[in-house]
Amino acid sequence: MGILHPAIEKAYGVLDGAPVDKELAGELMRLEGAPIIDLASLAHKVRLKFSPSRHICTIMNAKSGRCSQDCGYCSQSSFSETQAPVFPLVSEDEIFRAAENAYENDIACFCIVTSGLGYTEVTPEFEKILSAIDRVKFRYPARNLGASLGVLSPETARLLALHGVAFYNHNLQVNPSRYRELVASTHSIGDRIATVRYANDAGITACAGGIIGLGETADDRIELAFALRELKAKIIPLNVLVPVKGTPLEHTPPPAAADTLKAFALMRLVNPRAVIKFAAGRETVMKDFQGLLMLAGANGFLTGGYLTTRGRDAEDDENFLRELTVFGNL
Ligand code: SF4
Repeated sequence: MGILHPAIEKAYGVLDGAPVDKELAGELMRLEGAPIIDLASLAHKVRLKFSPSRHICTIMNAKSGRCSQDCGYCSQSSFSETQAPVFPLVSEDEIFRAAENAYENDIACFCIVTSGLGYTEVTPEFEKILSAIDRVKFRYPARNLGASLGVLSPETARLLALHGVAFYNHNLQVNPSRYRELVASTHSIGDRIATVRYANDAGITACAGGIIGLGETADDRIELAFALRELKAKIIPLNVLVPVKGTPLEHTPPPAAADTLKAFALMRLVNPRAVIKFAAGRETVMKDFQGLLMLAGANGFLTGGYLTTRGRDAEDDENFLRELTVFGNL
């Protein structure tokens, strides 16, 4: 056997533009021991070649809790009894101030997030969000604004684009064919996929990713990576499940660091040009391994806390980022 595992040697073809197929993806996901580090190293090289930019963003929880949907991982579902904050859509002022805070602190992208199934019609609440977006864009016309408002219709996607939303986040979460079993029964994966397509069609860059640790298999992770490739997701946020007390997944054990590393690296090899961001679970679940995961093909991360869980201080993240630059352009 050469220095590299034969599957990794084959996967080096990605650097020359040869796409990874599902068979090779399966071989890579079955790697054990030291070759996993070689896989991470290849993913890092692929990122540096095809997607070298740094991508740090922050989100604002603009409407929280009392969601009618039953996503098993989510602390905001009304099917779960959790301590997650509950409040209606915040004021235009609050959204503006949060955006101002992000942009003045040099965060490249600020994203407005609301709980609930979404906006398939132009409701007064949706209009209020558009008006907050107008105010932010008037003051910061050149800055990136994102939104994560749940499912959309072609019309609401078009309006978000018209008002200046550059990125729309809507995750597939898992292997689409197991969405009902692993995530939710109150809506379908079809609604999610359609929303990503509406955003793309409206000219908004789709940001769609998933969660590692929902009870999915290695094959499910492969299917997710290929589904995102098919959807042409340009930004892929990857979360590691943070089990929340009161949700059906509260006792779910964290995924093994090695399996998570393989999932991150595979996502990069299957989507060489995408921006991959490490979102929830970076500090709380992956702890000592977060740096290693950041060197397995990720472009950046979400900073400043998550929807209902705290992240670490921005200063710690800045230092972390500085240290990571030693390994290449991050
Ligand atoms: S993930 Fe979104 S749709 Fe699902 S329960 Fe949470 S807030 Fe509702």
